[in-house]
Amino acid sequence: MQRSIQSRHVVTEEGTRPANVLFEDGRILAVREYGSSSGGEDFGDLCVLPGLVDTHVHINEPGRTEWEGFATGTRAAAAGGYTCLVDMPLNSVPSTVDVAALAAKREAAAGQSLIDYAFWGGAVEGNSGELHGLAEAGVLGFKSFLIDSGVSEFAMVCERDLRLAMPVIAHCGLPLLVHAELPGPVKQAHHRLSRQAPWTTYSTYLESRPDDAEVEAIELMVRLCREYRCRIHIVHLASAKALPLLKQARVEGLPITIETCPHYLYFAAETIPDGATQFKCAPPIRSAVNRERLWEALREGVIDLIATDHSPCPPALKLIDQGDFEKAWGGIASLSVALPAIWTNAKARGLTLTDVVRWMSTKPAEMARIHSSKGRIGRGMDADFVVFDPDAAIRIEQRHLHFRHPVSPYLGEELLGRVRRTYVRGQCVFNDGHFDPDPRGREWRRCGTVVD
Ligand code: ZN
Repeated sequence: MQRSIQSRHVVTEEGTRPANVLFEDGRILAVREYGSSSGGEDFGDLCVLPGLVDTHVHINEPGRTEWEGFATGTRAAAAGGYTCLVDMPLNSVPSTVDVAALAAKREAAAGQSLIDYAFWGGAVEGNSGELHGLAEAGVLGFKSFLIDSGVSEFAMVCERDLRLAMPVIAHCGLPLLVHAELPGPVKQAHHRLSRQAPWTTYSTYLESRPDDAEVEAIELMVRLCREYRCRIHIVHLASAKALPLLKQARVEGLPITIETCPHYLYFAAETIPDGATQFKCAPPIRSAVNRERLWEALREGVIDLIATDHSPCPPALKLIDQGDFEKAWGGIASLSVALPAIWTNAKARGLTLTDVVRWMSTKPAEMARIHSSKGRIGRGMDADFVVFDPDAAIRIEQRHLHFRHPVSPYLGEELLGRVRRTYVRGQCVFNDGHFDPDPRGREWRRCGTVVD
């Protein structure tokens, strides 16, 4: 059955304009003039955006489902306007580092997910022989850590491991996503800190993860990218000091893309209270000046996209009572609030919803190579929509979060913008606080052929 939705502010590739979107069987048939159909839903002055795509989510199921699972994680995502997420290969047990582990992931996700999803595989020390099989089995690319990952099942890689993995990944035509911090500068920083350094103050933590760790890691990846021409994606860039290097790599034509996260764009080190371990993540949230340079890089297109790095844990592991930044689990959960957090800051800087859609939908879909059906409103694309009220003010409370454990640095923040509805392939899965009881999310599997 053909259906349509319309609004005076539909964010299309040609900008925001009045339009009527006709769809059938989950696919968009046409984007027409506003008012061209009398039936269907009319959202008037509310905005209609393409469904957001989050390429950096830790669902943790199977194995650490008590941290976050597909049922709770995808509900939070739907409430945040996301219609597709790509799950990271670590923090679940097993990690997604071979085909059997990918099968366990698929089994865990099936029948539980409210939105569409896909998987990254892991490239860890010693598994270069598994990468080709994982690519053939349908992962969208691979993730590696250049520093300790925080969980023992997911081993970090050094240059020698990368030299084994990158030719295989390049041959498969997939991207390698990299957590870009090197252990050397972090170790040196720890040595510089005195034994009495107070780990309950944020500045101690910030000093322990210096900019150099990111800059040197990115230097290494640029060098290896030049050698192997393997697509590289730098996840969660926090340090603006790496931007000149990345700009230069772009000028050179290297296939490198860059993401940053809402928490690096919203918060600043100067205002993080001592003991507030809900702000702990790696790399760390840096200064307000650094934050402005990240915004400038987004505006210029040097940073391609924004992903959440949604990485929750049980509240006890955050050690909120002790406020110990050294021992607390690092990771920030934000799936349900990322859009208003970014919109609040983007609007204040004179940026538009078209910009936000580019960073949070179109570019992530392109990076993950799922842009034939996700990331924009246009003929032939999935009927994935977010109905968004850009003028609604909202004070974030636990009931807005929807992920498994309502711990987040955004609690109490006053944000601009509210997700009213989310549609996945034409199905309304989130409607003003209510969820579709029937999870119909599907896996987006890479179906390109792997050349032998
Ligand atoms: Zn992550």
